[in-house]
Amino acid sequence: MEQLTADIWVHRIDAAGFPTVAAVVMTRTRAFVIDTLMSPQDMAPVLELLAARAGARRTVVVNTHHHWDHVYGNAAFRGVDIVAQSACPRLILVHGTTTDESVPLSPPEGVPLPTITFGDRLTYSDEPETVHLIHTPGHSEDSLVVFLAGARLLFAGDSLEWPLPNFAQRDGKDVWIHTLRQLKQLPADLIVPSHGPAMGRALIDANESYISGVYEAVAAAKKAGAGRNELDLPAEAFLGADVVLDDVYLEAHRTNLVWAWDEV
Ligand SMILES: [Zn+2]
Repeated sequence: MEQLTADIWVHRIDAAGFPTVAAVVMTRTRAFVIDTLMSPQDMAPVLELLAARAGARRTVVVNTHHHWDHVYGNAAFRGVDIVAQSACPRLILVHGTTTDESVPLSPPEGVPLPTITFGDRLTYSDEPETVHLIHTPGHSEDSLVVFLAGARLLFAGDSLEWPLPNFAQRDGKDVWIHTLRQLKQLPADLIVPSHGPAMGRALIDANESYISGVYEAVAAAKKAGAGRNELDLPAEAFLGADVVLDDVYLEAHRTNLVWAWDEV
């Protein structure tokens, strides 16, 4: 595990080509585990860290949203509180029966559902840290972020992503843009997306201009007669000049174009 601060660690794995993180945040009385990756086995280093460092702290697992790369390791935490946004348990069940080939089969241990849910916001005051779970729909209906007010650090789940966000909530563009504007109000100095490196606040603007730019360009192309699979809109046009995409994100961009075409 990589230690970010005295109380915060991240564990990075490769999830089908996407670098993906789980995190541990120790507050005075609690040990928060943010996301459970692709299988209970992926969480072994997290369990070791908890055994070594958590002491009497109560473990609280947070699922940032229902997608397989964030919840399939839930079975590593049987009997532990699992917290999520209120739409998450239903969406995990639906996700588990999808025929979408990009969704791997759920692990043999099963995927225990969240046991505690909330609507807009849930706050854990644990002096000197305060942990806010905030509903941030757009990538998915149930997306949430974890904001540490004391550390001024934001775990963004997939509400923010580097090098580009993945469109996954049908007709979610407007609500996502609204979410990004809300995130800009948070006094965060460091952002840790579930996919991508820890970064500064510029990530929020970068994602906003990608999302609005793609939808605008796809709408114009569709109006001009471009078919669903004929969109010639390279990702570079919507990203900063320094961004280089690997094959996984080139494909994510192509999928985003088609996703947007179906909505505009
Ligand atoms: Zn993800």
